[in-house]
Amino acid sequence: MVRAERSRRERTGTQPVAWLLVVALATVLLLGTVAAQENPPTPHGTAPAGAAAIALLVTPSPLPEGTPRVEGPLSVVTTTTILADLARQVGGPRVEVRSLLPIDADAHDYEPAPADVAVVEDAAVVVTHGLGLDAWADDLIANADMDAPVVVATEGVPTLTSEQEGFGDGDPHVWFDPTRVATMVGTIAAALTAVDPDGAGTYDARTRAYQQQLTALDTTIKTAIETIPPERRKLVTNHEALAYYADRYGLTIVGTVIPGLDTTAEPSAEEIDELLDAIEREAVPAIFAEASANPELARELADQAGVALVPDLRTESLGDSGSGAETYLGLMRTNTVLIVEALTGLRSREDARWVAVAGDGPS
Ligand SMILES: [Zn+2]
Repeated sequence: MVRAERSRRERTGTQPVAWLLVVALATVLLLGTVAAQENPPTPHGTAPAGAAAIALLVTPSPLPEGTPRVEGPLSVVTTTTILADLARQVGGPRVEVRSLLPIDADAHDYEPAPADVAVVEDAAVVVTHGLGLDAWADDLIANADMDAPVVVATEGVPTLTSEQEGFGDGDPHVWFDPTRVATMVGTIAAALTAVDPDGAGTYDARTRAYQQQLTALDTTIKTAIETIPPERRKLVTNHEALAYYADRYGLTIVGTVIPGLDTTAEPSAEEIDELLDAIEREAVPAIFAEASANPELARELADQAGVALVPDLRTESLGDSGSGAETYLGLMRTNTVLIVEALTGLRSREDARWVAVAGDGPS
């Protein structure tokens, strides 16, 4: 372990103190991930004192259980996996939640399957994202024979403006700001309560507890991003997914591989040249591709620019079991670890993966 640390340090030429700080933060973020699903763990190892303090902030207490429904769980259908997690956090044992989009699907570019109609028709509540992210659900719902309420989770959430066609109500990627997610969670809770008034107490208690976890997450991310030298707080992502994250935590979006808020466009040769120029001019440390889209173009550009490629930012979807991004809180933590590691320049392309940190831990 000591030898591994030294070799990383030599390769990157970074100060050991900074390295330790990042590992400590990564560990803290990951401990929080575990805690979001199970009971709060006891921090272990010899992380610096500062990390222990942060651990207190981020280790979420378990959500209140709540009572199951007497007549079986309420069937909730969501469009995205992230919305499904939010509905589960609010509903607990009273709900059974299903997402139309599978893990790692691209929310912008989904063709509903015929079977999705039956899923929606069986729902007691349908939760869509809105803001043009899941516009494909509109036809699906219009064609389904159903009278369950349809709630748009982003209703009332302030958005960053966009002039792109199809996104007149603003940038849909609001989940990259946990404070906006707190509003979405309140909207979902109100919808569940309207259909299942007996669960009001459960929904209310779980919502408030989860909103506290969102506040803790926000604090953690802020603290983590502050460890990146200010001149390196620059992002190039695959598509325009991280504007809210950048806005909230003080990063600059230098450019995107795919121009636009969805993943369907292709950059022109001129746009690619402009992006490569910007990466060089701004000394951007890395390009972030995403798990839900083909990383090949991003990889090519990273090679051309001579910067690191982080292949697996989770932008639109939760990850599989073992990914660390099985929940929304986990998704935000694993993304933050990837961003901090890559922008701090402390890890190379091969080991810029949170799992490497999870396996080692600080020593
Ligand atoms: Zn997107």
